[in-house]
Amino acid sequence: MPKASQTILEIDLNALDHNYRFITSHLKPSTRILGVVKAGGYGSDAAEIAKELLVLGVDYLAVAYVSEGVALRDAGIMAPVLVLHPQPVNFDQLIDRCLEPAMYSKRVLSAFIAKAEEHAQKNYPVHIKFNSGLNRLGFQKEDTQWIAETLSGTDSVRVKSMFSHLAASEDMAERDFTLGQIAKFKSIASEMKTLLGYEPILHQSNTSAILNYPEAELDMVRTGIGLYGYGNNPEIDKNLRPVVNLKSVISQIHRIESGETVGYNRAFKASGVEVTATIPIGHADGIPRSLGNKKGFVLINGEKAPIIGNVCMDMLMVNITHIDCKEGDEVTIIGEDIPATTLAEAGNTISYELLTAISHRIKRVVCRK
Ligand SMILES: *Cc1c(COP(=O)(O)O)cnc(C)c1O
Repeated sequence: MPKASQTILEIDLNALDHNYRFITSHLKPSTRILGVVKAGGYGSDAAEIAKELLVLGVDYLAVAYVSEGVALRDAGIMAPVLVLHPQPVNFDQLIDRCLEPAMYSKRVLSAFIAKAEEHAQKNYPVHIKFNSGLNRLGFQKEDTQWIAETLSGTDSVRVKSMFSHLAASEDMAERDFTLGQIAKFKSIASEMKTLLGYEPILHQSNTSAILNYPEAELDMVRTGIGLYGYGNNPEIDKNLRPVVNLKSVISQIHRIESGETVGYNRAFKASGVEVTATIPIGHADGIPRSLGNKKGFVLINGEKAPIIGNVCMDMLMVNITHIDCKEGDEVTIIGEDIPATTLAEAGNTISYELLTAISHRIKRVVCRK
């Protein structure tokens, strides 16, 4: 890769291939794979990630909202796309673009059947989501009879899959709770199969469940964060490679005399002569303000440069007093040597939040390292 000459987000498709192989090595060959590309592919580029995942052999893609599914279709992606959290207001568009909705409540299923009938659909694929303990989205165990009766009254939709989502699959202290969720979903699923008289695909595992709960594997798994190189566990992360590398440059270097201050609110005050570098990335680009005042750091020529003062909207300042560097040099903010998890911890957040906050103002550059 040429050195960055502005702020860029490199998307390394070879890292994605590597992570995909690592994750699927934990699964039976027959298990279907759903690649989660919501939130712009966890802050990278959903269409680029989706295309590569399809080459790798994923069976399904998932997004959170209809607009994200539409963007995949606009990018020419024809694979099945599960929309995890659709709203009835978007059902016309969802059907026009052949997106497949998760049905999570009586209200939503009734509204979707009405729409599918209006569009003269037959056997339109839908995915029934059950709540097994996350208490976020999904039908209750008590709803099975109602679902089956409602579906038997129409041939406009057909259940392609049934699924549930785990609340704490990364947390071994919650093992009993998670095993309870897995058992609960299995029992709901077997009851639903009997009521329906056919066998939809079953899925429950996210990345951490693939790694921690083989008993939750079922017919398909939904993997997100692991594909992007993070496994909610430092031991797992050793086997994964970050897909995104966030890079920037030194725009300007300042020599600060003792007693001078840096940035808004004069939050950094020099106690001796210090050298600072200004980097063109700020909180509007997704660098949390909580990383200011020496909580976070960047890498310049392999050395740690702490962020000093408050993170501004469009830039931040780092201390380079101890680093041999010059204006125009490359700066690494997230990458192999400075994982999103490290920076996330420093900012009191998680890799998911840090990655998905990377703004679309930053140029995406697809590469293979
Ligand atoms: C986001 C999401 C996933 C992916 O979870 P990871 O921890 O990123 O693997 C799976 N299922 C549902 C319902 C989700 O919302």
